[in-house]
Amino acid sequence: MNIILLGAPGAGKGTQAEVICDRLQIPTISTGNIIREALKTGTEMGLKAKSYMEAGQLVPDDVVIGIIKERLAKDDCKGGFILDGFPRTIPQAEALDKMGVVIDKVIDIEVSDEAIIKRMSGRRVCEKCGASYHLDYKKPKEENVCDKCAGALVQRKDDHPDTVKARLDVYHKETEPLKDYYEKQGKLSVVEGQNEIEETTALILKAIEA
Ligand code: ADP
Ligand code: ZN
Repeated sequence: MNIILLGAPGAGKGTQAEVICDRLQIPTISTGNIIREALKTGTEMGLKAKSYMEAGQLVPDDVVIGIIKERLAKDDCKGGFILDGFPRTIPQAEALDKMGVVIDKVIDIEVSDEAIIKRMSGRRVCEKCGASYHLDYKKPKEENVCDKCAGALVQRKDDHPDTVKARLDVYHKETEPLKDYYEKQGKLSVVEGQNEIEETTALILKAIEA
């Protein structure tokens, strides 16, 4: 099954992707994680993306479309995949369609802007593997240490409050129209993302398994 997770930054796409990934045994492809990785290793693509990302703006379509093309061509995607953070604009969705990638389900996780601003301040990510945590909702077993790889947990630069506001503006303007795009294709399921993580997970699994 080929799945897209839609939703505002901080709606919980990454967290939910991990659960679906375990359940269906298909890889999660997070453009955000791929870009952060490139930034860390200092590749040309990373350098191009850096200023956009840190300002909370979208990285240009041609860059992320290139990343996705390369990633989806790998063998592990043959049995299905979860896209977390792609597409984020109409041209990106059109690029997927043009590549002949068939999407089965699009899950939109709905969370209000107010809740997102609150959540983002507590979000932490693993420096090493990119796994995400939250100071209140998803604590690691040991404070500031990743459960999976023992890497250090840090706050992303783009999770600071002013940048979060910019990211929400971009989301409403560029990404939200994708709901309509996939609704028209008959693929959209909207789930409430504002309650307990497990509740959202249950709704998503129901939508996927329906
Ligand atoms: P979140 O979903 O929490 O906003 P991500 O890790 O998905 O965070 O993305 C972080 C940043 O990476 C975005 O603000 C943007 O700069 C860049 N990015 C990730 N995916 C895309 C995409 N599909 N198109 C453009 N920029 C992207
Ligand atoms: Zn880790």
